[in-house]
Amino acid sequence: STAVVLFTSDLRVHDQPVLHAATAGHDEVVPLFVADPGIAGAGFDAPNRRAFLADCLAALDTALRERGGRLVVRRGDPVEQVCRVVRESGARHVHVAAGVSAYAGRREERLRTELARAGADLTVHDAVVTAVPPGQVVPAGKDHFAVFTPYFRRWEETGTRAALAAPRVVRVPEGITGEPLPERSAVQGVSPGVVRGGEALARERLTAWLSGRMESYEERHDDLAGDATSRLSPYLHFGCLSAVELVRRARRRGGVGAEAFVRQLAWRDFHHQVLAARPAAAWSDYRSRGDRWRTDEKEIAAWREGRTGYPVVDAAMRQLLHEGWMHNRGRLLVASFLTKTLYVDWRVGARHFLDLLVDGDVANNQLNWQWCAGTGTDTRPNRVLNPLIQGKRFDPRGDYVRRWVPELAGLSGASAHRPWRLDERDRARLDYPHPVVDLTEGKERFGRARGLDAT
Ligand code: FAD
Repeated sequence: STAVVLFTSDLRVHDQPVLHAATAGHDEVVPLFVADPGIAGAGFDAPNRRAFLADCLAALDTALRERGGRLVVRRGDPVEQVCRVVRESGARHVHVAAGVSAYAGRREERLRTELARAGADLTVHDAVVTAVPPGQVVPAGKDHFAVFTPYFRRWEETGTRAALAAPRVVRVPEGITGEPLPERSAVQGVSPGVVRGGEALARERLTAWLSGRMESYEERHDDLAGDATSRLSPYLHFGCLSAVELVRRARRRGGVGAEAFVRQLAWRDFHHQVLAARPAAAWSDYRSRGDRWRTDEKEIAAWREGRTGYPVVDAAMRQLLHEGWMHNRGRLLVASFLTKTLYVDWRVGARHFLDLLVDGDVANNQLNWQWCAGTGTDTRPNRVLNPLIQGKRFDPRGDYVRRWVPELAGLSGASAHRPWRLDERDRARLDYPHPVVDLTEGKERFGRARGLDAT
């Protein structure tokens, strides 16, 4: 028999339940990727991700060819394209990974209906994108966990499924045509420092991480200049790596670094299970607090461009512009700055992140933004991160600021965080803006807006 594997956020051959089931259960498989213009229509297309995706597809095609197969690329509505490939190949079965977004949900529903009409069935596989499938651990009488700590306790007890080996052989039926693979070099407007994508590279990075810097992750993950996190997020986003495999391999390695790393992977699952239960939380407040956000276009532009006058905020925003990636500590503090100090709608920030992040992800981005804005799952929704304190703690020598804000490269040590302390002549010589807002004023304004006691 013949089956179609529709690849989505699972562009790999190792620990790939969808491909595994299809190759184990059928003689021939059509490995299909559909370039879906609807992704752009839904606002999730960005040059940085398109460039990275081109690498991922090329790597997937190579991995399939090493197994005797190849990747078939089509363009258009994924449901129509799958049905067309089903007709052309005579397949009676389609396999796909479960998604968590409203978009994936609609695609799955339409696939089910249209395939039934075409006389084919659909198998949706769990635990492909996340380590523990959404809905597998839930509090009594509820459909998802709204607080991380109890979720994490249950998540840890539950454990993951076993990891699967890559198929040895992938046999593709004759005569199924596809489009040429998209090319990274054809994508315009890519940030200069965007990393290369693909499973082979991802696996090298993972192995290096597990046997190297993961050990010190617990102490160093918040060190902005040390850059001591795994940087695996884009590979996880496109599914070049499996979250199940990561959790299992990190646990096997053991130690406090591995534990802290696995906990972050649980955060990823946590946000996915929130979105799966509340797909509207992609753009609507998870917990509406009746915020009447400010819209000051000048302040928003200063934030986007990394010219707020707060060095650590600007450094992080410029890292994003340059690499299409930002350190987690940076993400936390720039999101707090936008939504609390400037009191701008989190959707403005989430949109900007999605336009640039290589790992830009509907679950992780939108729900982390809501967490930072206090409309999400943070149990302390009114905390405001002070960029000066954050800078002092997480970039104590000012190295991160000097790396990303060249105007301040001449300032030594922690003084890079406080250019306003220079004497007037030296200050005037720097082409660096004055702070867009006074921190105390911002905090008071936020407090008043949220109806908090000033004390
Ligand atoms: P590591 O520290 O090495 O962590 C390992 C993995 O755990 C990450 O690759 C990621 O998959 C997962 N992870 C870590 N922290 C989180 C978290 N808070 N929430 C969910 N998963 C996490 N992550 C994305 O993958 N895509 C996004 O679009 C995204 N947007 C964010 C927006 C904001 C405002 C904030 C505060 C965080 C966002 N994150 C997002 C989470 C986090 O910042 C990144 O996953 C992390 O910085 C990626 O770097 P790393 O791979 O080196 O992470």
